[in-house]
Amino acid sequence: MIILLKKGADAHQVENLKNLLRSRGVEPHESVGSMQTVIGCVGDVAHLDPGILEALDVVEQVQRVQEPYKAANRKFHPADSSIDCGGTKIGGDGFGVIAGPCSVESEEQIVAIAKAVKAAGATLLRGGAFKPRTSPYAFQGLGKAGLDMLSTAKRETGLPIVTELMDFADFDHFGDVDVIQIGARNMQNFNLLKEVGAHTKKPILLKCGMSATLQELLMSAEYIMASGNENVILCERGIRTFETALRNTLDLGVVTVLKHLSHLPVVVDPSHATGHAYMVDSVSVAAAAIGADGLMIEVHDNPPQAKCDGAQSQTPEMFAKTMSKIKDVRVLVGKWKEGGL
Ligand code: PEP
Ligand code: MN
Repeated sequence: MIILLKKGADAHQVENLKNLLRSRGVEPHESVGSMQTVIGCVGDVAHLDPGILEALDVVEQVQRVQEPYKAANRKFHPADSSIDCGGTKIGGDGFGVIAGPCSVESEEQIVAIAKAVKAAGATLLRGGAFKPRTSPYAFQGLGKAGLDMLSTAKRETGLPIVTELMDFADFDHFGDVDVIQIGARNMQNFNLLKEVGAHTKKPILLKCGMSATLQELLMSAEYIMASGNENVILCERGIRTFETALRNTLDLGVVTVLKHLSHLPVVVDPSHATGHAYMVDSVSVAAAAIGADGLMIEVHDNPPQAKCDGAQSQTPEMFAKTMSKIKDVRVLVGKWKEGGL
């Protein structure tokens, strides 16, 4: 249920309304917009009588929300959410480019790549320290040592860092991490979602599961938000289909749908979506053009030697070319701003 407030509603009366909702076991989420202020009601609204609420002085209209996701719903929060990721914004007018290797392999490697992607204009550094691998015999990531290397790269470049948390038991090591990634394979690990919702306000980059519907993705975001962390960024990375020419199949139309249904920022990962470095450039351009709020691109200084995902990793030179096209697209769609993207 959402309650649309009258323009210039008295603050004291709005507070009374919120207290009334709380006394009925419903949590009010106020979203103040330039055109309209909305109170979204989360909880069991079955015994709230819309007629009684509409009779209040400050209330313009009460609407039932059919969708099962509430906090993530655009009806609850009409304006785009803009999320502060260690000093750089993703969403709203903030376009984020998260770049770096699939996995952190050594301090020299991550520092060199961090410097290269920063020089090309990336706004955040990625690198996996805890890796979800299909084979138990494949490189599993450097774990805590990898996080320390990411911290060094952050100190040397000033880039905020994004890395995946697979098991909440490792959370204590994530103090220096700016954005916590929940990978596709964990999108429906509900306990993990509840833990990152309850124990941190750091932004969560939630990747869409490889066989998930958009509603399931939004419900996973809802788990994090309902547990107390509203800073969720959705990430599209393609889903599994019968097609084998690409690693996954990415329908860029989902960016439009997600942004219609939700106020949360949407980032596209063209690397995992395609699986081939040569495709990353054009898919990045298309994602920026269709209205994504950012990109996550794998970059490696020596792709043939990469311990993970070398085939889909751009070289720093390829990445720099893509970045300059992204800037052109942002200019073209009228969103580019001085000093940013
Ligand atoms: C990753 O970003 O390194 C990763 C493992 O991605 P996904 O969870 O989308 O497969
Ligand atoms: Mn990868």
